Amino acid sequence: MKKYMVMVAVLSLSLSACSFGATQEEPNASASSSTSKKEVEEKAEPTFNPDEADSENSDSNNQQKQSNESQEQSKANEKEKTEDGLTVVADPQNVQVVVNKQRKLPDGYIPPDLTVPDVPFYFDEDLPKKQMREEAAKQLEQLFAGAKKAGVELVAASGYRSYERQKRIFQGYVEEHGEKKANTFSAKPGTSEHQTGLAMDVTSAKMSFQLDQSFRQTEEGEWLANHAHEYGFIIRYPKGKDAITGYTYEPWHLRYVGKDISTDIHNQSLTLEEFFGFQPAGQ
Ligand SMILES: [Zn+2]
Repeated sequence: MKKYMVMVAVLSLSLSACSFGATQEEPNASASSSTSKKEVEEKAEPTFNPDEADSENSDSNNQQKQSNESQEQSKANEKEKTEDGLTVVADPQNVQVVVNKQRKLPDGYIPPDLTVPDVPFYFDEDLPKKQMREEAAKQLEQLFAGAKKAGVELVAASGYRSYERQKRIFQGYVEEHGEKKANTFSAKPGTSEHQTGLAMDVTSAKMSFQLDQSFRQTEEGEWLANHAHEYGFIIRYPKGKDAITGYTYEPWHLRYVGKDISTDIHNQSLTLEEFFGFQPAGQ
């Protein structure tokens, strides 16, 4: 693991929803999409590539199921209110919660059951970003085990990010670039999916532990795109859906939504926003 730490210093970041560190932050929807930008910090963030899933599932059972799921979600969102033009999600602990540039978590929200999944990380330090919520952590362990069985070596990069940390990061950008500009590449506190404890950025040694769109072309990225849903995860920011998700393609950003809906979302090539019928979150 020591060698991982060394590599960390050179990791590159790019504008995306995952960003880490104090220098980088959450991404931005319309920010560039096809190039990989790089930055450094405690980790890396990446950039772009294709994937074409295809699936059009007109199976009536699935449709019905989706419809039921949507109703459940709407029920959970009944008490939602708005704040600063954003909707505050009413049920942040629901694993199906939809958080994006238009939908924020309640101020100061901290997931109740954060734990560190037993999977390899590219750094040794016991940092908060190793954490995920318990159910997601367990499934992530299963996913990593399944990948390993297939000869694919995944490495975890960044999971939970606190409201306070995101706030500091965003504020730093606002002071440096002004709020308007900061908004284009960094997430406002409360709007990062990493704060839910249900997201994990994944990379590999072959990627030098960077988060970059080229990950999709690697064996690891390919496996993840095709099998994550089997463990209840989805690739949250698919290629070509920037206007809907608010973020450019992130083949490394896994979001746990539970097996109840992960396969439907995967088979129908939908975003979480589309699946639940929410408005596009792009800027
Ligand atoms: Zn991420």
